[in-house]
Amino acid sequence: MVKGVYVLMISVNRDIRINVGALGKINFDKGLYAYVGSGQNNLEKRIRRHLGKTKRKFWHIDYLLDSNHVRVVKFFQKDAEKPAECGIAERISLKGMPVDGFGSSDCKCKSHLFKIKDYQFFREFMQEST
Ligand SMILES: [Zn+2]
Repeated sequence: MVKGVYVLMISVNRDIRINVGALGKINFDKGLYAYVGSGQNNLEKRIRRHLGKTKRKFWHIDYLLDSNHVRVVKFFQKDAEKPAECGIAERISLKGMPVDGFGSSDCKCKSHLFKIKDYQFFREFMQEST
């Protein structure tokens, strides 16, 4: 898939408080989170970037994934244009708790990161990868 929208399933394995760039210090309770993003040039490369540990911090998500207590357990992707990214964020917001302002500096969404209970429902509309 060259371009599209992706959702990272992120496991935070203990309560942490980390600095998320311009957002400042944020508490993340132990649990499962879903982060929505998009890659319009090279989706695979973007996802692989998130899976790696050493990188320059550019997006809010880079700060979260940098923690030793955080890892990406799975991701979903979908062939779609960038606006679909916010539609999916909206859809997840019905199921999860938003982390205010996270990943949504460039749009009107409340957040692009949500604390969720399970990720089964993504299978209904996205392609799963591990
Ligand atoms: Zn958005």
